[in-house]
Amino acid sequence: MAGSKYAYVKNFEIPDPLLPNTYMVLRVDGHGFHRFSESHSFTKPNDQRALELMDAAALAVMQEYRDIVLAFGESDEYSFLFRRSTQLYNRRQSKILSTIVSYFTSCYVMNWSKYFPSTPLEYPPSFDGRIVLYPTEKEVRDYFSWRQADTHINNLYNTLFWALVQEGEMTTADAHATLKGTVSGQKNEMLHSRFGINYNTLSARFRKGSVISRKTETPESVPPDESDGSKRKAKPKVTLEISHVDIIGDEFWNEISDIL
Ligand code: ATP
Ligand code: ATP
Ligand code: MG
Ligand code: MG
Repeated sequence: MAGSKYAYVKNFEIPDPLLPNTYMVLRVDGHGFHRFSESHSFTKPNDQRALELMDAAALAVMQEYRDIVLAFGESDEYSFLFRRSTQLYNRRQSKILSTIVSYFTSCYVMNWSKYFPSTPLEYPPSFDGRIVLYPTEKEVRDYFSWRQADTHINNLYNTLFWALVQEGEMTTADAHATLKGTVSGQKNEMLHSRFGINYNTLSARFRKGSVISRKTETPESVPPDESDGSKRKAKPKVTLEISHVDIIGDEFWNEISDIL
């Protein structure tokens, strides 16, 4: 089909393929969620409903995009790891990034009222997104370790910060000043001695974030077809599993070694 005389402008669209055979990590992060969490009265430091809503949106993304093998979420962010060999949208960066960020956002909004039945959305939330390529398994593991370590650092800080404000009746400025320069041992100690909180007993969702992995189970034997007794082919069952486990140590990666 012959184009119009204007069609040459299409040539200004530059291809943006992602390097073949590399691990792709796509991270979405809530835009201005400090404000969003305040205007929607999120419980501080951790609003369980908000985290579950993030998990629901991430699960929906993984149901739609089968090449995502692992996801990790904390606070207002989610990271998605793709199969190294994925050919999704011919590995076009902006196509992949824009559709997934858009899909995640839609799922967040569609599920809002399920998790916040008595809090209407005040304005449309949005998410930013980026894709980073990693050459080997080592960087992939270190990436996820980095995010989970971040979860721990932020959660320990926020738990103590909000205890000082809510129970210690400090101003937020005083709470920040009190925490400045403290190391994690001191924070644990303050939590325990001042507020009787044993950090390790807090919800694993808050301390470890959310991990969604795609598990493939091949049934060992399949009962014969009832109608003619013939043997049926074992269909691998693919399930999405959400947990709040440690992903820094070896155990997790040994268990899911087949996905990388
Ligand atoms: P940016 O647009 O640069 O990402 P931001 O305001 O979203 O800015 P972040 O560093 O992404 O800043 O931090 C997200 C903020 O959202 C947290 O600091 C916290 O205040 C709030 N938040 C996100 N999820 C929750 C939650 N489940 N419970 C309570 N607060 C939350
Ligand atoms: P891609 O994901 O590659 O963009 P696509 O299916 O969205 O694929 P487009 O080239 O973007 O394809 O074309 C959008 C299609 O959506 C149109 O061809 C048409 O079939 C349909 N469409 C969009 N808007 C309307 C509309 N207002 N009324 C009827 N059909 C529409
Ligand atoms: Mg944010
Ligand atoms: Mg964030």
